[in-house]
Amino acid sequence: MKIDWDRRTCARRGHATYAPDETRLRERLHAETALGAAWRCLRCGDFALGDPHGSGPAENAPLVPRGKVLRDLFILRFLAIERAVRGVFIVLVALAVWKFSNSQDAVRRLFDEYLDVFRPVFKHFHYDLDHSPVVGTIQKTFGYRHNTLLLVAVLLLAYALIELVEAVGLWYAKRWAEYLTVVATAAFLPLEIYELTEHISWLKIATLVLNVLAVVYILVAKRLFGLRGGHRAFEEERQTASFLEVEEAAKVPVQAHGSATVRSAGLGG
Ligand SMILES: [Zn+2]
Repeated sequence: MKIDWDRRTCARRGHATYAPDETRLRERLHAETALGAAWRCLRCGDFALGDPHGSGPAENAPLVPRGKVLRDLFILRFLAIERAVRGVFIVLVALAVWKFSNSQDAVRRLFDEYLDVFRPVFKHFHYDLDHSPVVGTIQKTFGYRHNTLLLVAVLLLAYALIELVEAVGLWYAKRWAEYLTVVATAAFLPLEIYELTEHISWLKIATLVLNVLAVVYILVAKRLFGLRGGHRAFEEERQTASFLEVEEAAKVPVQAHGSATVRSAGLGG
């Protein structure tokens, strides 16, 4: 099934109309109806009744994402939500680990207190508890584990932060966020695969598949790292997909003479 992203978006957010100053372009976008003036939507191309949402030179018109560009935005937002949910979940896990590390601390304190109680008793038997290898090992284990857990909590928080920053950036379709997502996600893929060798779960497999798809998709669709013409080709695609641009290109052959013909020939090539 083919989804009409343009009409879906218009149904949700309303049409995006604009009255350009350029007369010829203005005429193409404008219609007088029995119910009053109507303007063509820059997204879906339908005529919408009422005043235009903006006006001015065509070059100042808002760049309304349409078609494939709009579909890409939807996918990015889906990834943004997925990352936000994962980020919040990991923050919760980090908090749990941190709390657990503190309770480990409590266990150690308890142990130390016992040690204080028993120290005089053992001293009586000429046994120095503070230099006992067994006690040392136990103390070290508690300390080590506490620090390890704290480190794990900090690393989890850092990971969650990356996910949340990705989420915000992807939501607003920022190019840096696309790079961050690709690089960070790819960097964590080996860890995800390693996780799978330890214990297989459907959630892990789904996450891995989603992350691989996300990396490939963003790389190709957003033309990162100079792929398929890179940033310039991406911007060109966005521009040429815009409705005003399409209309402008369409109106050119209507003009019979002169430079317009040259221009249309140039556009065609
Ligand atoms: Zn519309």
